[in-house]
Amino acid sequence: MKQISHWIDGRVVAGESGRVAPVNDPSRGEQTAEVDLASPKEVDNAVASAVAAAPGWSATGLSRRAEIIFRMRELLDGSRNKLASLISAEHGKVAADADGEVARGLENLEFACGVPHLLKGSYSAHVSPGIDVHSVLHPIGVAAGITPFNFPAMVPLWMMANAIACGNCFLLKPSERDPSASLFLADLWQGAGLPDGVFNVVQGDRVAVDRLLEHPLVGAISFVGSTSVARRVYEVGCRNGKRVQALGGAKNHMVVLPDADIDVAAGAAVSAAYGSAGERCMAVSVVVAVGSVADSLVDAICQRILEIVVGRSDDPASMLGPLITAEHVQRVGGYLEPESLGAAKVVVDGRLVGADRSGFFLGPTLVDHVAPGSRIYDEEIFGPVLSVVRVESYEDAVSLINSSAYANGAAIFTRDGGAARRFEADAEVGMIGVNVPIPVPVSHFSFGGWKASLFGDARMYGPDGIRFYTREKVVTSRWPEPSVSAIELGFPQHR
Ligand code: NAD
Repeated sequence: MKQISHWIDGRVVAGESGRVAPVNDPSRGEQTAEVDLASPKEVDNAVASAVAAAPGWSATGLSRRAEIIFRMRELLDGSRNKLASLISAEHGKVAADADGEVARGLENLEFACGVPHLLKGSYSAHVSPGIDVHSVLHPIGVAAGITPFNFPAMVPLWMMANAIACGNCFLLKPSERDPSASLFLADLWQGAGLPDGVFNVVQGDRVAVDRLLEHPLVGAISFVGSTSVARRVYEVGCRNGKRVQALGGAKNHMVVLPDADIDVAAGAAVSAAYGSAGERCMAVSVVVAVGSVADSLVDAICQRILEIVVGRSDDPASMLGPLITAEHVQRVGGYLEPESLGAAKVVVDGRLVGADRSGFFLGPTLVDHVAPGSRIYDEEIFGPVLSVVRVESYEDAVSLINSSAYANGAAIFTRDGGAARRFEADAEVGMIGVNVPIPVPVSHFSFGGWKASLFGDARMYGPDGIRFYTREKVVTSRWPEPSVSAIELGFPQHR
């Protein structure tokens, strides 16, 4: 059985704890590897390696840092197919989704290549006679990232690109479900010339996370995952004096107004609901059909569902792959039971697609007449299940969104610029799409939701990433007028 281990100080380090977790090929429903789960002592070893590397890395010039990140970008771009296949094999997402993940991760490296510019401080000359003030951005030291299964390369890159560019050492604790991408990235960093210890990987579960949250030499924690864990990571990390950014779950709505282009809206809903088997925090989970649009929209979505090819992630014809585990298939399927549905009607039942396959499959599922208060509406499903809620008016649609506990993204489909502009102001979420179903910001903006979708005040990547991974020092200096000896050298005495 293939063994997946830690990466500490520039090399693979076998686990010592004796605890392991299975890694599966979700397309076949088979275990393909086992991953070591770190003990607190193994976490301490990785932190010690990072602490030792930190002074050298933070003292490394900005141009040299940019050069290494640029080389990393080139290496990753050159091997994106290999990484995408690795992701597909352990996560189960189809080739196009895996390649899209790597492409979005590359953007974060591209942004971080601008580090000499991004770390410029500010300067105020002559705030009083002889007094100037400037600010400098210092690294934190050691930053840790704890990441979810659904983007095993992109989410770590959201974090590590900026953390490393800012002069920190970065310790990644990836998801134990698809851990190989982390080691692939570690190898590329080494090839790009990153000194050993600046990037370490500790494989593990809650035991490793708890040690990171209490370790006195870890200064910053970046977390992405489910809301319950995000809330706890935020609370414990803050209590231990760390800066913490913790992104949680989501329940994203897509509002379709009666004037929308139905074909465009249906196509967008299908790709946003079923891409990556719905295991995306920005997936559209609820279509809110306003007024007369509902029947034709549901028909158009059904038509498109018929065209979706469900299959193994390594089959080029597949458009929708398996879910991450058999338990997750059970959990998602549970939302189609009467006690979760309430008065809702299952229009397309994906359980039928999965029934005769060995992998962890559940086909695209559509549920109509969903209402708030039912489990299928209220909870994050994280699978290929699209709910349709029918409402009378634009105001009803907005109040639905604003009543949700989650507030990651929301989209509106309309031809009316005024309505879109109003929605942008009215919807209480962190990211808005106008005729764009999955409004993930490009890497020079930052990513993050509101309410139960984000704990803390820093979003991921972009300008917030730079702010999160640095601490500002403000220097106030007073210099008297030049001395007599300096005047003799030719300085003017008075300005
Ligand atoms: P998860 O919360 O189960 O796990 C995330 C990470 O936390 C993993 O590294 C895991 O090992 C660790 N972990 C799990 N349980 C823990 C515990 N009790 N204590 C400490 N650490 C623990 O999430 P997941 O199932 O891997 O990912 C799916 C979730 O992530 C969904 O809720 C999804 O919405 C969310 N997500 C959010 C975003 C975002 O940007 N907001 C992005 C991607 C995924």
